[in-house]
Amino acid sequence: VAEGGEVTYKKIQSKQIMGSIQLGIQHTVGSLASKPKRDLLMKDFWEMESISFPPDGSSLTPAHHYSDFRFKVYAPIAFRYFRDLFGIAPDDFLMSMCASPLRELSNPGASGSIFYLTDDDEFIIKTVQKKECEFLQKLLPGYYMNLSQNPRTLLPKFFGLYCFHYNSKNVRLVAMNNLLPSDIKMHAKYDLKGSTFRRKASKAERQKASPTYKDLDFQEHHPNGIFLETDKYNALMKTIQRDCMVLESFQIMDYSLLVGIHNLDRAAQEKREERILNARAKLQRKDANAQVVDDAPEADQTPFNTQQLPTVASTGSLVAGAGAGASTSGAALNRTRSMNRQRLVAHSTAMESITADMDVTLEEDEDVPAGGIPARSADDERLILYIGIIDILQSYRLEKKLEHTFKSILYNGDTVSVCRPSFYAKRFQEAMAKQVFKKTPTFPLKHSPSKR
Ligand code: ATP
Ligand code: CA
Ligand code: CA
Repeated sequence: VAEGGEVTYKKIQSKQIMGSIQLGIQHTVGSLASKPKRDLLMKDFWEMESISFPPDGSSLTPAHHYSDFRFKVYAPIAFRYFRDLFGIAPDDFLMSMCASPLRELSNPGASGSIFYLTDDDEFIIKTVQKKECEFLQKLLPGYYMNLSQNPRTLLPKFFGLYCFHYNSKNVRLVAMNNLLPSDIKMHAKYDLKGSTFRRKASKAERQKASPTYKDLDFQEHHPNGIFLETDKYNALMKTIQRDCMVLESFQIMDYSLLVGIHNLDRAAQEKREERILNARAKLQRKDANAQVVDDAPEADQTPFNTQQLPTVASTGSLVAGAGAGASTSGAALNRTRSMNRQRLVAHSTAMESITADMDVTLEEDEDVPAGGIPARSADDERLILYIGIIDILQSYRLEKKLEHTFKSILYNGDTVSVCRPSFYAKRFQEAMAKQVFKKTPTFPLKHSPSKR
């Protein structure tokens, strides 16, 4: 919620939340370092650590310029184990989370959650409701039992669960993997549920620079679906199937498949257009200089007539990024980001998530960003997909009743409540397998990178 230009959550300034959670995470990762590694015990899932951060500092915490707050860490040892499972070293986690300020993302969701992104693009921190936080705690043992059996999954990877307490308000936060690398331009983003009821992006959403579209929009943009090579298609469907089985077993519903699409052909076109724009800008600068020096009457008389260069303003997408200076420094920054991105979160790219034993060797092409799944549009445009399942903390059980244990999630015999999640999972899988993704034997060669 924006108030007077400042972004707030529960009337707390976002800046205060971001700064405080960085202090909190820094403290918990630091104090965990002194606790020796050991096997995970069941009780680790229920543990909670709470620490207060007075502005003047204490024997345990540093002084800071935010207001007095408390920071709770849920299941610290368990989450340390999970981070380890995903190959995230404590130092790397600390660096990602705390070395640079977090960035805030605009959230298209209706829930009012706020999303923060770490500066290196690896992690997302999402504010969650109390019941979602409680559900995740109960979910943890079973969820990670599953993850350790099958790390190739599109399910979200949770790396920490926290509660920031300030001014008698609680802000609960979950740290997870970021699915959409921000250094790769997404030409479209879809939040798909396999349902069509009211599944259209709002007008406000569609007017954003990078809207998140929904099922009906997808049908409109891709009436014939998106094409995957047979082995990729099969791997993806198998992963979705396995994941849905897990979600159904926890009676989870309302999750989505997030699909980010990078369009290689459009990206190449944009690059060409940007080059032309830059050239135009350069020439215009030259013209201006010429006028100052010898008072040349008409820019038209310079040997390179800038007016004759193609105009690209009509493509829309270029207008914003046209500032030559801005795009240069942006590119440099992006290069560092992509280097940082060299697999901090193991098995976490879309491609790795679906391919257990498959050989993941894509053409080493500078223009083809790594980690995505190659695909084609019906018009034969070359696409790279970034995907994952998101928003899984809504359990049908929870809507009915909060008071239950992990055991009752597993052994509940209530057939009515089992029915809806199973319906949801089935519809979800069918939509992905039949409408969203289509199988093609192989891609036609006409577009192969070597022939471009
Ligand atoms: P609601 O409950 O109203 O659907 P929410 O606040 O619970 O919304 P989500 O559904 O989790 O939010 O996510 C909203 C949007 O945020 C997604 O459509 C997607 O654009 C973005 N998003 C969420 N999780 C991730 C992630 N792990 N990586 C990248 N983007 C994400
Ligand atoms: Ca959602
Ligand atoms: Ca939600």
